[in-house]
Amino acid sequence: MKCDVAIAGGGPAAAAAALQLARAGVHTIVIERGDDRGDKPGESLSPDAKPLLQRLGVWEDLERDGHLPCPGNRSVWGSDRVEEQPFVFSPYGHGWHLDRRRFEQRLNERACEAGATRIVETSVVGIDGNRLTCRGAVDAIEAKFVIDATGRASRIARLLGARRKIDDPLLAVVAFFDADEGDRDSTTLVEATESGWWYSAPLPANRLAAMFITEGPAPAFAPSGRTRERIERHGYRMAAAPRIVDAGSARLDRFAGDGWLAIGDAALALDPLSSHGIAAALHGGMLAAEAILSGNAGRYISAMEAMWTGYVTMRRAYYAAEMRWPNASFWRRRRPVSAARHAKPWSLA
Ligand SMILES: Cc1cc2nc3c(=O)[nH]c(=O)nc-3n(C[C@H](O)[C@H](O)[C@H](O)COP(=O)(O)OP(=O)(O)OC[C@H]3O[C@@H](n4cnc5c(N)ncnc54)[C@H](O)[C@@H]3O)c2cc1C
Repeated sequence: MKCDVAIAGGGPAAAAAALQLARAGVHTIVIERGDDRGDKPGESLSPDAKPLLQRLGVWEDLERDGHLPCPGNRSVWGSDRVEEQPFVFSPYGHGWHLDRRRFEQRLNERACEAGATRIVETSVVGIDGNRLTCRGAVDAIEAKFVIDATGRASRIARLLGARRKIDDPLLAVVAFFDADEGDRDSTTLVEATESGWWYSAPLPANRLAAMFITEGPAPAFAPSGRTRERIERHGYRMAAAPRIVDAGSARLDRFAGDGWLAIGDAALALDPLSSHGIAAALHGGMLAAEAILSGNAGRYISAMEAMWTGYVTMRRAYYAAEMRWPNASFWRRRRPVSAARHAKPWSLA
């Protein structure tokens, strides 16, 4: 197969880039190793994603597709008090708790309607010049330009010699729950503990996502405090065994090279504390499409560098706001002496 742009990996970053490229008449093929099914962690969409979704032309889809509006965040962070951070002051209204697969399917559908081709159950395993070697539905794809959207694997960029630099190693122990009724209060709950922090978010169809973010080795999934209370009080039943996934902060040493660039988590992966990975992936995908259409990778690289710098500053401030366990290694490692002490773990708007 031949195309103008081949995108390895088919998450939200790929969909955003494919949508914009296809709309501009660029022959684009997305190659995704999975089958677009099953639970995928990452469901909180902050209100400030709205302008991006509007620009992509999928905002009305989001409102129609049965995702759960999220009125704000609640955090136990820096003290034992529960603090409310409602989104009422956001110019974009409430946030969302997504049916993540539904959200991605809709983005992919829109990209395909615009003219992109999506190939699933096919892994990109190699690159030689402008030829991607694949395993699955096709053996190879020739492209004038290649985008690495393989998420935290950064598969293509690394094959091309870029290095992935880990800024803060973290893992998440993630579980999804079902209930007969579930929690009617769809606020996100973030709760610090001595060795990490809990996150929980009600999802559409009476489901709940809960995860513990910490350093390795991975602990058993054992909710505590208000997270446990939420699970027990609303009768949530674990839908499948908990999974351990990489949740650290990392970036590539370079975001682009001759005939390729990396987007989304493949370029820079954010701590889930930011609740901003999806928006950053969509934004990066759109910027990448602009760079390819204009032939100017410089602006893309500068924008990604700025995104990373802003993110690291905010992340440090968030962790610095938790001072209850001065000797706990999890917090000591994440607390630079000079960081601001008032920041709270809500969206990196
Ligand atoms: C535990 C956790 C919780 C999170 N929570 C949130 C949240 O609440 N809100 C938020 O905004 N963000 C959250 N994030 C971050 C968010 O999920 C990511 O930033 C976002 O998915 C990045 O999109 P992407 O398209 O770059 O990568 P991905 O969504 O990871 O997509 C990459 C795709 O590439 C495919 N792929 C990989 N290698 C190959 C290959 N060789 N060939 C073909 N396909 C390949 C994968 O199958 C995958 O589908 C969370 C992340 C984690 C780890």
